[in-house]
Amino acid sequence: MATIYHDADADLHALSGETVAIVGYGNQGRSQALNLRDSGVSVLVGNIRDGAHEAAEADGFRVLPIAEACAQASAVMLLIPDEVMPEVYRDQVAPHLSAGDLLCFASGYNVAFELIVPAADLDVVLVAPRMIGVGVRDAYVAGTGFPAFVGVHQDASGRARERMLGLCKGVGATRGGCIEMTLHDEASLDLFTEQGFGPAWGRVMMSAVELLVEAGYPPEAVLVELYLSGELAYSLEKIRQVGMTRQMDFHSRTSQYGSVTRGARYLALDGALKEKMGAVLEEIRSGAFAKEWSEQQAQANELFERIRAIRDELPFTKWETAARKAFRIGDAGE
Ligand code: NDP
Repeated sequence: MATIYHDADADLHALSGETVAIVGYGNQGRSQALNLRDSGVSVLVGNIRDGAHEAAEADGFRVLPIAEACAQASAVMLLIPDEVMPEVYRDQVAPHLSAGDLLCFASGYNVAFELIVPAADLDVVLVAPRMIGVGVRDAYVAGTGFPAFVGVHQDASGRARERMLGLCKGVGATRGGCIEMTLHDEASLDLFTEQGFGPAWGRVMMSAVELLVEAGYPPEAVLVELYLSGELAYSLEKIRQVGMTRQMDFHSRTSQYGSVTRGARYLALDGALKEKMGAVLEEIRSGAFAKEWSEQQAQANELFERIRAIRDELPFTKWETAARKAFRIGDAGE
């Protein structure tokens, strides 16, 4: 079984006498800085001069250039986008760290795929919320907490785990539960959700839409039936609350009989699906994806622009816009 830490396993005193630099005051940075401060931890912010810099000052934080913030702190939480992190780390963070400092990542990606190799005399840990930034703050304020993936990559001081758990408690993650793993496993699971599970699920939805529209059903009705009504989102929440197998009790007997008997037919696709997803997982684990993405980043904006232009012309996108407008869903209904 995995090791899962809760509030009782963590002690904020592990950070006594420490100053934590939050580098990057964006989605995660703002929420984690506010939560740590409210937990009684000494926090300063390192940020480039931009809107986020002003926001941090308006929230009452001392804001310094990144290099200076790292020099003044004993613990640094790197909360800038993963793509820019290696360069910022090399130029503005690493030269200002001292032996025994704690370096904390919110994503294992750069360390796992060796785009950042921290000095051996640092404590290096992971506190990766499984929650968007605004949710990290909302959960802390509500007193509910959120889950996080955590891990110790290097323990130079002999206190890396207790310092990591201090941070977890300070941001509110131990209220939800922190599951320990390597940074490589965290990064791989995250990428697999994006590249394996998500696209496979998306393909199932698109196939169902195409099949039903080709069979003559109006696209608006198909989309409302499959997901625009919100019933699917509601069912997913029930799956979260009671479990995948037990949530079937919420459906009609006709639905239960039909889905169990017909569901068995899809078992035949299992092998092909696992083969495709397994190949994706292998590319992730071997580092091949990270290497490819590093090489492609310079051209990525052009690719995203091309995809957006194609996307906007797809019949599917037009059906969705029409249906969302007709049922006043989101901004299409304005
Ligand atoms: P953001 O995109 O919100 O950016 C954070 C900050 O970094 C902003 O203040 C931004 O400034 C600044 N920044 C951008 N480019 C640079 C640069 N070249 N040099 C210095 N600062 C820069 O990041 P997130 O909060 O989304 O992500 C931070 C970390 O948290 C990442 O490791 C991510 O994987 C992880 N994470 C994110 C989650 C999320 O929900 N977003 C969930 C779990 C983990 P500006 O505003 O001017 O661009």
